[in-house]
Amino acid sequence: MNGLDFSQVLETLSLGIFVLDAEGRIVFWNRWMENASGHSAGTTIGQSVFGLFPELETAVFRRSLKSVLSFGNFVYFSQKVHGHLISLPPLPGSPAGFDSMEQHCVMGPIRKDGKIAYVYVQVEDVTEAVSGERLLSSLAMRDALTSAYNRRYFDRRLAEELERCKRYRRSLGLVMLDIDYFKHVNDRHGHQFGDAALREAVARWTQSLRSSDLVARYGGEEFCVLLPETGPEEGLALSERLRSAMATSEVSYRDIHARITVSAGAAFFREGDGPDDILRRSDEALYRAKTRGRNRVE
Ligand code: GH3
Ligand code: MG
Ligand code: MG
Repeated sequence: MNGLDFSQVLETLSLGIFVLDAEGRIVFWNRWMENASGHSAGTTIGQSVFGLFPELETAVFRRSLKSVLSFGNFVYFSQKVHGHLISLPPLPGSPAGFDSMEQHCVMGPIRKDGKIAYVYVQVEDVTEAVSGERLLSSLAMRDALTSAYNRRYFDRRLAEELERCKRYRRSLGLVMLDIDYFKHVNDRHGHQFGDAALREAVARWTQSLRSSDLVARYGGEEFCVLLPETGPEEGLALSERLRSAMATSEVSYRDIHARITVSAGAAFFREGDGPDDILRRSDEALYRAKTRGRNRVE
């Protein structure tokens, strides 16, 4: 048609395209696939795709191939479900933090003389879009000043953890922390120092906790820490660690150095607890810590 060579068009696409015969042998391999895989068309054509990409040797892929060849179906391999279909390294210039290229793939039939003779596989690199989504979702659950989780995320996780406690008879600790005399800290050292103290508190607490624990900024200078699988004995020891993480060394910001202390109230899951119940008990414990002198855990 007009002397146009369609294989030339496929070569210039910014998409991976390869074609398999009914036995799974590669019969076409475009330039994008050459660049992304490091295998030239010359070395791949004639080879079994299962030899080149052993990870395709799965029941799902075999079934998909069969459904394209037998019924002319189109099969989608969504990044959301599979991450990737074939293992390729991220392309040069891809965002950091990915071991392999994230892909949306489509597989469909190619007919010859009215019969399905080949299967094409289209590979689309969506690593950049996935990176953007991850960034947005991490921003949506964090507080901008301290990078602690925000209240919305905390409320959701608290409800989930309580559900787990009920269903599987697990334990759960909740520690509420409030900075002592923070109005005075701001008045004396300035709001910027106050902000630095909030960031420092989150950094120290995150360091002294386990990876399953979660620090959230609940209000201005009030924080909640969720301790999954934690009963009173361990939970009180952890709370004490959070308190002393602040009390034992000064916070420094520019040329200002000052000791900041916090009070903490811990509460633990009881049968029948809803979010409001455990939050209320830790708030009451925090109030006792304040009235009994501050810089202490109740
Ligand atoms: P207490 O020991 O009873 O907790 O005394 P407090 O002064 O900390 O009392 P309160 O909780 O009423 O004061 C909270 C103060 O925290 C008031 C507000 O100016 C300050 N604050 C809240 N959010 C921020 C913030 O994002 N940055 C700074 N620098 N200060 C904040
Ligand atoms: Mg306070
Ligand atoms: Mg407060």
